Amino acid sequence: MSLAAAIRTIPDYPKKGILFRDITTLLGDAKAFRRAVDELVQPWSGSKMDKVAGMEARGFILGGAVAHQLSAGFVPIRKKGKLPYKTVAVAYELEYGVDEMEMHEDAVTKGERVILVDDLIATGGTAQGAIRLLQKQGAEVVAACFVIDLPDLGGARKIEAMGVPVRSLIAFD
Ligand code: 5GP
Repeated sequence: MSLAAAIRTIPDYPKKGILFRDITTLLGDAKAFRRAVDELVQPWSGSKMDKVAGMEARGFILGGAVAHQLSAGFVPIRKKGKLPYKTVAVAYELEYGVDEMEMHEDAVTKGERVILVDDLIATGGTAQGAIRLLQKQGAEVVAACFVIDLPDLGGARKIEAMGVPVRSLIAFD
């Protein structure tokens, strides 16, 4: 079965006109989950990666598995107010308006090689904010990886324009 076939599409969620790509069906399918993680890590297997950063919340699930497979540490990037220690914050663009995301100030150290993982890239605003946070703390963001890209929304181009290569496994119109 293809990875795309393991993803469920929900019309009109969270609001009318949106086709939501639901990855819980992929996560619940042992073969599809393993295959997605194997394919995400494939370019870096055997090379040294210090950390994997994942965005709340689905990026934690995939990023944790990717970090384990690369023998790397994991860095959670969260919505404002959720992390207990001292944080660095960045504003990022949502479809309507802006929000803030945070990371512990000591989550990465200068020069550490980090890959960013999330389930899906749409406009790229979320990934852009996360990359800014990691770079602010001196990390080298080696790549940004996603199971799904929605290329019509231009997110991958936005991230590549920041000098960060993008890897995605599936593209949906
Ligand atoms: P962006 O900031 O690139 O516009 O949106 C990407 C963020 O929104 C990701 O963190 C992703 O989890 C979430 N997201 C937006 N649309 C979808 C969708 O259709 N399916 C899933 N699983 N996540 C989505």
